[in-house]
Amino acid sequence: MEKMYFEMESQSSNEQFARVVVAVFLARLDPTVEELDDVKTAVSEAVTNCIIHGYEGGPGTIRVEVTVEDRKAIIRVIDSGIGIYDVKKAMEPLYTTKPTEERCGMGFAFMEAFMDEVTVQSVLGEGTIVTMKKQFKQARGEEGRKVLG
Ligand code: ATP
Ligand code: MG
Repeated sequence: MEKMYFEMESQSSNEQFARVVVAVFLARLDPTVEELDDVKTAVSEAVTNCIIHGYEGGPGTIRVEVTVEDRKAIIRVIDSGIGIYDVKKAMEPLYTTKPTEERCGMGFAFMEAFMDEVTVQSVLGEGTIVTMKKQFKQARGEEGRKVLG
């Protein structure tokens, strides 16, 4: 088992930072471009939610944890923000509490589409933990690397 974690300020400029750091860590799995894109999209959505909803644009700390075991990645995105009143409802496609701010309520739907499993634990006033799991396919090995560069 290999584990990595980091904390960063809740700022939109850190959204790209987080997705790139997670992708670089997962490079050890020799993932396909598609697998890596899926993870990056999911991490972006989860981190954006911490910034926009969890901390409502204000200051805060976002923690990202990545664990890898047997080619399975477990990614946790954690905030200590306002929390979610009704997690089941929040995860429904097209549900958003900020319909006026160009949000379409598809963040959780994207996370679920691009990852194998998404679970959300949240306590009002305490924060939110989004856990996403993904099984990576068999490594391509040296031959595959040569072909794909
Ligand atoms: P989009 O992601 O399409 O821009 P959205 O962020 O509103 O829109 P989702 O990402 O699916 O849609 O989230 C649904 C709702 O869940 C949000 O509108 C918000 O109310 C709540 N939510 C999601 N993440 C958090 C969080 N970290 N803290 C507090 N509330 C959250
Ligand atoms: Mg969202």
